[in-house]
Amino acid sequence: MKIEFSDLGDWGQETELVSEYDPNGPVIRINSRVADKLPPEERAAFVKRAIAHELYHHMEHCGDIPIIADRGAREEAASSFPSTSVSHARNAAQDRLHRIT
Ligand SMILES: [Zn+2]
Repeated sequence: MKIEFSDLGDWGQETELVSEYDPNGPVIRINSRVADKLPPEERAAFVKRAIAHELYHHMEHCGDIPIIADRGAREEAASSFPSTSVSHARNAAQDRLHRIT
């Protein structure tokens, strides 16, 4: 898994694209346009939340968790995925990697 900052464009105030998950990589891209606007003390929390959200999509992609059919409910589930689970998910990903290699 790679984490990158990149300019994901300006989608307007209401639908600002915060981050995206690309299974080809896999890579999580965090919108630098959004991150750069934040004061440094808020940036770490923002990045953590964005990574947790996209990790949820990564786990969907891997089949670790079921994909919720309703898009709104699915995004809500991704957004409420606790950022404390980031380290757990990373360990799970490493375990999987070890099993493959
Ligand atoms: Zn999402």
